[in-house]
Amino acid sequence: MGSITTPSSKRTVTSDDISTLKSLLSSTNATVLTPDNSAEYSASIARWSSAARKPAGVVVVPTTADEVAIVVKYASDQGIDLAVKGGGHSTAGVSSTDGGLLIDLNAKMRNVTVDTDKKLFFVQGGAAWGDVDQVGAQHKLATPGGTVADTGVGGLTLGGGYGWLSGQRGLVIDNWVEGTIVLASGEIKKVSPQSDPDLFWAIQGAGQNFGVVTEFVLKAYDQGDVFAGMLIYPPTPDVIEKVVAATNDLYTPNSEGRTKVAGRGAGGVAFGRPPPAEGKVMLMAVIIYFGTEQEAKELYKPLYEAGPVVDTTAMVPYPVTNTLLAPPIGLRASMKGTAYTMPIRAGFVEQVLAEYAKFTDGNDDTGVSLVLFEVYDPSQVVAHDAGSFANRGWHLNGMVCPMWTKEENDQQCRQWARDMTGLFKTELENQAKATGKGVDGGVGLRGKKGATMLYGNYDQYDEKSRDIFGENYPRLQHLKAQYDPGNVFNKLFAITPQA
Ligand SMILES: Cc1cc2nc3c(=O)[nH]c(=O)nc-3n(C[C@H](O)[C@H](O)[C@H](O)COP(=O)(O)OP(=O)(O)OC[C@H]3O[C@@H](n4cnc5c(N)ncnc54)[C@H](O)[C@@H]3O)c2cc1C
Repeated sequence: MGSITTPSSKRTVTSDDISTLKSLLSSTNATVLTPDNSAEYSASIARWSSAARKPAGVVVVPTTADEVAIVVKYASDQGIDLAVKGGGHSTAGVSSTDGGLLIDLNAKMRNVTVDTDKKLFFVQGGAAWGDVDQVGAQHKLATPGGTVADTGVGGLTLGGGYGWLSGQRGLVIDNWVEGTIVLASGEIKKVSPQSDPDLFWAIQGAGQNFGVVTEFVLKAYDQGDVFAGMLIYPPTPDVIEKVVAATNDLYTPNSEGRTKVAGRGAGGVAFGRPPPAEGKVMLMAVIIYFGTEQEAKELYKPLYEAGPVVDTTAMVPYPVTNTLLAPPIGLRASMKGTAYTMPIRAGFVEQVLAEYAKFTDGNDDTGVSLVLFEVYDPSQVVAHDAGSFANRGWHLNGMVCPMWTKEENDQQCRQWARDMTGLFKTELENQAKATGKGVDGGVGLRGKKGATMLYGNYDQYDEKSRDIFGENYPRLQHLKAQYDPGNVFNKLFAITPQA
């Protein structure tokens, strides 16, 4: 399925395993679900992309870290294939297992509390970002988090994490101060940069490889209303030129690394077929501005003057910003990441539009698909250096997301995502040649840490763990040998243990 999952040498579960697990958990509140029983089992194996759903041999729904520890230790000792579900949004199938043991954190471990004095969120490992947003809103607090509320805190944080607030506060991992992790041995450990600098460094970027995080403690910040919404345009060459020029003006860093939005603006430029357009391809400019309406209207004036036919921008409570781009749940989907650097070339955007239109015109099962150029001010992400995440830089994330319903279209849709990201790669290469500087760090298509300029949390088909972690890979291998020598956590950019 174009998955990034490393082939697992682990075994599937047997009926004896199920009996033993039931007995080990009999005096706890955990639930054991088997393939023959119920709506609960179906809900546990359901994924944001239905193409990422796999039939687990058994599902355990825990309610505490102790219960998680019993299950992890059992899978570890028995060599059983183990999958962990946070929000279930990975499109690569890495939170699923075919016949193995699934720990579903999302069903009953998604509580969020807040310490308003210390300005901290305490978030259980299966929570979604919408859970954090809602609790935060009650206290006018927020933290950088996923831009689509139904996305899981777990996977998004452990792989780095970008959000609308990243322009001001950096990545999610830059705001992660403490965690509780269940290691492969079954040990439950409270970890922070102070108590366990090496392990905490590892889980800030490569976290899915080191254990099950049952609690995240994240910094909380005062957060009032935000100016946000979408401008939608017919994608004529004239409009594209104006929107691209305005976007370049707002988000291209000057020689001192400052952008006009100064960390307060974020959003994106996307092609899609939004429902009100009755099937027509449209250009969408998403605006999230952390300031007043008056400031935003002044700053984004060229975008308003480019002639949107729909304008949903308004002052809104912060949680609304994470509901603006909410693709439907349960289609088949592949969210393939790519990268680009500012300034964007209008001709390139026209090329992307042409390929998007050709793909979605050519197959009526693919009309919900999206291509997105994400924009924000990367200076805070560049300024921080926490963790094993190796993809910091001035480049921005692009996202190619085919969505479809019929399994027979899997291959065609994934190939389209490959081809589209190939276009972005060629554009980067051409930019590098044209400027003579290369991109980010002057090393071709790799960033300063030698990692490929791709965000590992977006589905990557062809990249290897070394590409994603760059020069951090050997240190990760060493830590993997210490904390997970048997490679129990092996599904997302697996790290080969090396003592
Ligand atoms: C609609 C949508 C919007 C997105 N928006 C953003 C965005 O704004 N910013 C961004 O950075 N990324 C975004 N992503 C990408 C996102 O970061 C990844 O899809 C991520 O894997 C989602 O985490 P999850 O917990 O929902 O996924 P899952 O599929 O549940 O898990 C993904 C991986 O993380 C592991 N995992 C999850 N929780 C835990 C835990 N508590 N402990 C240990 N391992 C765990 C799983 O085992 C698996 O390996 C988005 C994805 C989608 C589909």
